[in-house]
Amino acid sequence: MQEPQVPPVACCENPDPQSAMPCATCGKPTCKNCRTFSETKPMCRECRVQVEAKLVDEKPDASRLATALVGGVTGAILGGALWAAIVLITNYEVGYVALAVGALAGYGTLLGAGGKKSGALQGISVLAAVLGLVLGKYFTVAHMLIHKTEEFAGRSYLDSEIIQLFVNNVTEFVSGFDFLWLFLALGIAFKVPAPTKVSMSRKK
Ligand SMILES: [Zn+2]
Repeated sequence: MQEPQVPPVACCENPDPQSAMPCATCGKPTCKNCRTFSETKPMCRECRVQVEAKLVDEKPDASRLATALVGGVTGAILGGALWAAIVLITNYEVGYVALAVGALAGYGTLLGAGGKKSGALQGISVLAAVLGLVLGKYFTVAHMLIHKTEEFAGRSYLDSEIIQLFVNNVTEFVSGFDFLWLFLALGIAFKVPAPTKVSMSRKK
């Protein structure tokens, strides 16, 4: 029995069957006159239009930036509170809690932005993470001063002298090892709302 001959599908208005190959996304043929390469994968025109539309759709409009800020700051405060809770429970400062602060700031931003991604959202996320990290670090320092020094014993966590001491000596409370965690935490916050990267070229 003979297979029925399937007529070649024209991939564009100027099809070149010689160079046609299946689109890596949908499988339809696409020739050198209509395909694009995403990394090394051939992509037909329809799929490229869809990818481009998705990238445009991913960008937040201005109103989303405000809700993203609220989300990021909320996440960061939660992160700072988590850090504080761990210090309270264990009496130790655990460096990698900073990573949770970065992630909470990042996902808070993403959630607040309704899942949108952009460079501006990355900025908001990093700023929120800085806030969370400062809050966590402040609470740790205040906790240690209240519980491990006679001078500050019994003071409140919002004692103005403790706040002033923290502000004036903030760099001294951050050790070299802390910097690694802080750097990684900001990296996470930066990455979560990062726009999708697609590199497309016409080269074969
Ligand atoms: Zn396709």
